[in-house]
Amino acid sequence: MAKEQLLSYEDALDKFEVVIGLEVHVELNTKSKMFCGCANVFGSEPNTNVCPICIALPGSLPAVNRKAVESSIAIGLALDCQIAPTGRFARKNYFYPDLAKNFQTSQYDEPIAFEGKIDIELESGEVHTVLIERAHMEEDAGKLTHVGGATGRIQGAEYSLVDYNRAGVPLVEIVTKPIFGAGDKAPELAAAYVRAIREIVKAMDVSDAKMERGNVRCDANVSLRPKGQEKLGTRTETKNVNSLRSVENAVRYEIQRQGYILANGGTITQETRHWHEDRGHTSSGRPKSDADDYRYFPEPDLVPVQPSKEWIEEIRASLPEMPSLRRRRLQEEWGFAELEFRDVVNSDLLDQVEDTVKAGAAPQAARKWWTGELARIANAENLVVQDLSITPLQVAQIQKLIDAGDLTDRMARDVVAGVLAGEGEPAQVIEKRGLKVVKDDGALIEAIDKALASQPDVLEKIREGKVQAAGAVIGAVMQAMRGQVDAARVRELILERASK
Ligand SMILES: [Zn+2]
Repeated sequence: MAKEQLLSYEDALDKFEVVIGLEVHVELNTKSKMFCGCANVFGSEPNTNVCPICIALPGSLPAVNRKAVESSIAIGLALDCQIAPTGRFARKNYFYPDLAKNFQTSQYDEPIAFEGKIDIELESGEVHTVLIERAHMEEDAGKLTHVGGATGRIQGAEYSLVDYNRAGVPLVEIVTKPIFGAGDKAPELAAAYVRAIREIVKAMDVSDAKMERGNVRCDANVSLRPKGQEKLGTRTETKNVNSLRSVENAVRYEIQRQGYILANGGTITQETRHWHEDRGHTSSGRPKSDADDYRYFPEPDLVPVQPSKEWIEEIRASLPEMPSLRRRRLQEEWGFAELEFRDVVNSDLLDQVEDTVKAGAAPQAARKWWTGELARIANAENLVVQDLSITPLQVAQIQKLIDAGDLTDRMARDVVAGVLAGEGEPAQVIEKRGLKVVKDDGALIEAIDKALASQPDVLEKIREGKVQAAGAVIGAVMQAMRGQVDAARVRELILERASK
């Protein structure tokens, strides 16, 4: 398909105001599905986690998963929503082969949570408050695999396979109100919002929150309107965007694509669109009008969900510290500079640094290990640093030995290498590799005197006050001591001996 024409991003923002709206689906990590006892696990053999209820055999009756309701309420509370005293399930009627029931059990006019808000901080430090319209419970559909085509899409496929393992997995769909005023930051805000939702549900442990597995997916609505116009423009909905980078790129692309059409007097077709990360563009999906009629009606097989005030308060009291508050607290406690802290956050190393500090290391030392040496090793081995086989406790133990003067920095790196190589705990590695700072100055002084005697010109310079000449001797001494001494101590002793 020919690539569509785009207006430059700057021109689009010059002429139009961007309005976005985000729908995020969160798959809950309950043990069983939303309305039956089938296991809710990822990666099973196709069609093994199914029963008459989730494939909707005639006469089967659903029952609501209490834990899924609890998680949904928790998400609502975390997003500052009101919780409905009565939430009702509704049937959303449509046909698709991944939906054995011919309707999706969802919520319509009585969602479990509504009217919330969340503050989203951008890279620049600027904060946008995003208003939440609603968060409702529903079930996921099965998964279709289209075989034989070049693209994996249904077009051109020879046949399709359906796996109902995912059918009936509990979802919470979080819908924002239209978001105005983000200007050229709209794509960044969209991605930051999805990141924040992902962090929250992860911190609450109500979802595995893995975007690459589809645990968190985003539909991004984008519309443009001429500046100063009250009426909203026609929107498009880019479906199932499943990485943060894709969310940002898809929104930016739609702004430029719609900008070109509108600037040239065209009209936007209201439709769903698909994002192609590999080719960096969206393509047309199906037309979608506001009048789409799913014939919603109350689900007659399920009683309304009526959480008691006590239960809601119990759930509220059990919410963990929210990620944004935790970050603010840790940055303050650790006293990191803005860039240092952002480096830790962006590398997703907050947990590691926090645990290392809890195990007794100074915050700066903990930060340096994780974002420095360990990140370097992981990078060289093509791993993510979180997957290295060293624990925060071990890092803290090694750091404590440095602080006590028992290990030099170089030796500490050896110990880390030993731990990573599976040689055991730091103490065992130190023992096995014979890594121990020589604390008896006798041997050290002997080595220094010997090095000074063999370099009389250097000795002369030091005596004349050119202390930087000591560097030439430090190397020789470190070598003689096989690196098992502290360089600062060596330098100190060289100056002392030279002055005798
Ligand atoms: Zn089932």
